[in-house]
Amino acid sequence: MSAQTATAAVAAGELPPLLLKPQEERRIHAGHLWVFSNEINVATTPLTAFQPGDHVQLRSSHDRFLGYAYVNPRTLISARILGRDPEYPPGKSLLVHRFKVALALRERLHATPFYRLAFGEADLLPGLVVDRYGDVLVAQIGTAGMEAMKGEIQDALVKVLAPAGMLWKNDAGIRELEGLERYVETAFGEVPDYVEVPEGGVDFRVPLAAGQKTGWYFDQTANRAMIARHVRGLRVLDLFSYAGSFGLQAKRAGAAEVTCVDSSAPALEAAAATAEANELDVELLQGDVFDALEQFAAERRRFDVVIVDPPAFIKRRKDHPKGLAAYRRLNQLAMQTLDRDGLLLSCSCSYHLAPGELTDGVQRAARHLGRFAQLIAVGAQSPDHPVHPAIEETRYLRAFLFRVTDSC
Ligand code: SAH
Repeated sequence: MSAQTATAAVAAGELPPLLLKPQEERRIHAGHLWVFSNEINVATTPLTAFQPGDHVQLRSSHDRFLGYAYVNPRTLISARILGRDPEYPPGKSLLVHRFKVALALRERLHATPFYRLAFGEADLLPGLVVDRYGDVLVAQIGTAGMEAMKGEIQDALVKVLAPAGMLWKNDAGIRELEGLERYVETAFGEVPDYVEVPEGGVDFRVPLAAGQKTGWYFDQTANRAMIARHVRGLRVLDLFSYAGSFGLQAKRAGAAEVTCVDSSAPALEAAAATAEANELDVELLQGDVFDALEQFAAERRRFDVVIVDPPAFIKRRKDHPKGLAAYRRLNQLAMQTLDRDGLLLSCSCSYHLAPGELTDGVQRAARHLGRFAQLIAVGAQSPDHPVHPAIEETRYLRAFLFRVTDSC
């Protein structure tokens, strides 16, 4: 036994066990990383013995080692697996390994260092996302287990990338379910207020600490490139535009006119700064998208391409009925502003909205308006947001490009 193996064995021995009930290891064997509270043999290994974020050895009902995990006795997902190799207990060296593997994928995909470097479960880093903006990193923790490893995460990222600065953007609402505070803080080094993100021939001005989520919506990069191929000479409406990501790229790609609508003033200020610096002439409207669409309809204002990229209307399963109705209404209003032969890009980042429900919503809108919708392209989250095939929740972004004509 090498010295390293011996240390790992000792570390593994030190971690307390968490036993599953009989038959409950099947999903874990199939690759899933989550353990729900009802799957645990609490009579032998009570969850109440643990603090949020504690490390355990997950073991089958036959007491076979399944993997290392962190636990949170307060949440429905009581444990998430960090690794299945007994020689790599949770810690800096496991994280270094994970970040190296994640980085190798992104370097394969991207010519420049702007991307989501780590996408939670899909990179075997449950509860952690890290975005890379050149030599600045923005990371977000969503679980008590990752919060407990914050220092090691930082150290591992320094070892793999030696960034000039790093920001913790730990302000997501899901943290409250885990019993975590919400905060934004500089981890180390210099973190500028704004960074420049080059995409689609535009240098975007992106706010970091003051931005939404982790700054830039890298998950839509592939869909922005897809739509840019269809806009030359056309009038484009970018709804829920944030910093003008779709709209300004469309303008660069030759759109005749571009209108961006968003309710956030800082988002539109960033879009205005990008437009000016890149000499792109676009219309920026601050306000509620539903109101703007009612107004366009009243004015009989029409567009050739409409992009609909709303925030998640269905954050939890119980929001489904209301959210579905909102997606339907939104797509119908958006379709009303489309000229005779137009394109509608309909997106949703709600995992709980099934892909068929969104296409069905567009189809119903078309029938209601006496129009004909044809699905001509299906988009997905960009590959720097990989999907873990055993964890459906990692496949969350839907994007459907419809052609909408007057024939019915
Ligand atoms: N399309 C963007 C991401 C959009 S995120 C991109 O690719 O980068 C959703 C955006 O919708 C946010 O910028 C938020 O400010 C805005 N928003 C949320 N609700 C809104 C509403 N009712 N009306 C207008 N904008 C809204």
